[in-house]
Amino acid sequence: MSEILDPFKISQHQLAEACKIKGYGDEIYNALCVPERFVEVKLTMKMDDGSIKTFRGFRSQYNSARGPMKGGIRWHPEESASLVKALSAWMTWKCATVDIPLGGAKGGIICNPKEMSNREIENLARAYIRKLADVLGPNVDVPAPDVYTTPQIMAWMMDEYETIVRKHAPSIITGKPLPIGGSAGRSIATAQGGVYTVREAAKDIGLNLNGATVAVQGYGNAGSWAAKILQNDFNCKIVAVSDSKGGIYNKDGLDAFKAGLHKEKTRTVVGLEGTQKISNEELLELEVDVLAPAALENVITSKNVENINCKIIAELANGPTTPDADNVLFEKGILVIPDFLCNAGGVTVSYFEMVQGYYLYYWTEKEVFTALDRVMTNAYRSTVDHAKEYNTYNRMGAYSIAIERVIEAMKLRGWL
Ligand code: GLU
Repeated sequence: MSEILDPFKISQHQLAEACKIKGYGDEIYNALCVPERFVEVKLTMKMDDGSIKTFRGFRSQYNSARGPMKGGIRWHPEESASLVKALSAWMTWKCATVDIPLGGAKGGIICNPKEMSNREIENLARAYIRKLADVLGPNVDVPAPDVYTTPQIMAWMMDEYETIVRKHAPSIITGKPLPIGGSAGRSIATAQGGVYTVREAAKDIGLNLNGATVAVQGYGNAGSWAAKILQNDFNCKIVAVSDSKGGIYNKDGLDAFKAGLHKEKTRTVVGLEGTQKISNEELLELEVDVLAPAALENVITSKNVENINCKIIAELANGPTTPDADNVLFEKGILVIPDFLCNAGGVTVSYFEMVQGYYLYYWTEKEVFTALDRVMTNAYRSTVDHAKEYNTYNRMGAYSIAIERVIEAMKLRGWL
């Protein structure tokens, strides 16, 4: 049988497996396997050169039983309805795994912001909100940043929403810049949360992080900050990092901060002094203690899983591992920190940002990270416990917690 690579099919396959492990039948699976609502919008706008372009945008609202739905907006040329639906499912399981009172959603626009001017980006952000304002809201569905969307884009989106509703509504969106209702720590929260889970995983397998070797695939927000925090706070040796243009390697370690500065200047990490160029594929197969896929989905598949050679996989990306690869990693005894646990720090601090927005009272970074550490450590521990209880791998451990909580909420509401 050929490997499933369609993201939404993967998410349904994982859910079916989790239902089987938990003993939930078809009725429950059917009640969980599709979004509550999926909206597709057409965004037509004038570009700077006078031409007219039409973009497709999506919002998938997967499940609202536990609270307002939550999830980022991705802008990417390869964005698709299937991907957005899968990501909205994973957001639902993510919020439930870390036990924040939110449901799951996700949005996307098929576009390439790297080829757009700031003015065009602003127009597209505002157009998206104008088309979707009816189905969004601080108590309905709250977007956030994701691949290629930034705090500035969140600011424009909030402003557009507030213009429509004629009042302030900071909790309509998270990941905003600090001066207009952002939360301290939000910009590095995905990485920081992931690092807390790596710290716990390292304890579990007796790995000393001091000097431990790390490879990070993807040098966007999550990947670059994870590398910097692991180097700075735990003295890990970052041996390889990469971005869409390729990777860099130095067996004695490279400086994650210098790699970041180099990328700021040249738009890629490739070419950093003292490193040799490697491909993204080679990076994934390096012998390292910790491998962090922090870019896009489907990078660890049946094609390369046999060559994966690390002790811990920290999935900062969403959906980096296919179900076939999952089974092999489990057999190989590699400790996987599954995506919707490992990268849940972002949405957790988004939740803190929503709470602060409701109260108009803002916390210090120390308060944010102390609370984040507690949430992530508890979620990591219960994931591992559930995986042990059902004699399965960690992704299913996290599913076990998540679907149990979502089903409980649906039952209490009388939906099941
Ligand atoms: N886009 C991030 C994620 O995949 C953050 C979502 C949020 O903050 O709502 O978890």
